[in-house]
Amino acid sequence: MADARRRRWFDAAAVHAGHGPASSDAGRHGRGAGAVGGDRAHRLLVLGDDDTPGGGGSYRAARAAVDVALTAADLLLAGDAAVYGLARPPGHHCPRSAFGGYGLFNYSAAASAYLADRVGRVAVLDVDYHHGNGTQQIFYHRADVLYVSLHADPDRAFPYFIGWADENGAGPGEGFTLNLPLPAGCTNDHYLATLETAVKRIAEHNAAALVVSLGLDTYGQDPIADFALSTDVYHEVGRRVAGLGLPTLVLQEGGYFVPKLGANARTWLRGLLGSPLDLHATPS
Ligand SMILES: [Zn+2]
Repeated sequence: MADARRRRWFDAAAVHAGHGPASSDAGRHGRGAGAVGGDRAHRLLVLGDDDTPGGGGSYRAARAAVDVALTAADLLLAGDAAVYGLARPPGHHCPRSAFGGYGLFNYSAAASAYLADRVGRVAVLDVDYHHGNGTQQIFYHRADVLYVSLHADPDRAFPYFIGWADENGAGPGEGFTLNLPLPAGCTNDHYLATLETAVKRIAEHNAAALVVSLGLDTYGQDPIADFALSTDVYHEVGRRVAGLGLPTLVLQEGGYFVPKLGANARTWLRGLLGSPLDLHATPS
């Protein structure tokens, strides 16, 4: 497919660039945050959630994930047309000053901020099954970083308090968040039709780079999700994203049906790179 590279180390400032300064209004950009009440919402968001255990190696792993994202961003800046960053844990549920949703640092946001500092306008396309509440919150007031997400309706799915269609940014960022919530049982056709709306909005943004939060928990057999996508549709999704013609950084987020994770990621990337659909392809 392409060459594999090792990450290099970045200092902590790069992590903070993604997360931004501590903010007393962290996460108050979802209808539900207000709905559960100020104090309770604040406590919930600062402490994260009980889905995110920590162990002896957690910090190092999460920091390494940020390094992977920034190394990948540097490769993009050096002229690669498409770069895939594979790391764990995922990060798109981490807002400013908090962790959550299995993640400690929002490495997609760190890479997006890093790219925006260097090239100007950036678009983020979040195709994880779950809404990327962290990424939305971090860029909610910014017009230079567009956030577009296809995800399960928060009425029934994590993160529950944010990700509705009527959240579209605030202040200078008004109009630079686009949420496209999807129903249970979402089919390939419904997904691709919604993706068209996302792609159209991204094309209007005139971005210099695209960051994709690639979650594969949209797969029909994913044990914690309820969409009905099949492996072959990922090729078409990758192909349509490539049609934007933007330097594209793909960062791995969720995906929990392990037997098909590799095939689904590979198929998505083959679509992005213009390789033919081959459900039995092996990495090369
Ligand atoms: Zn997810």
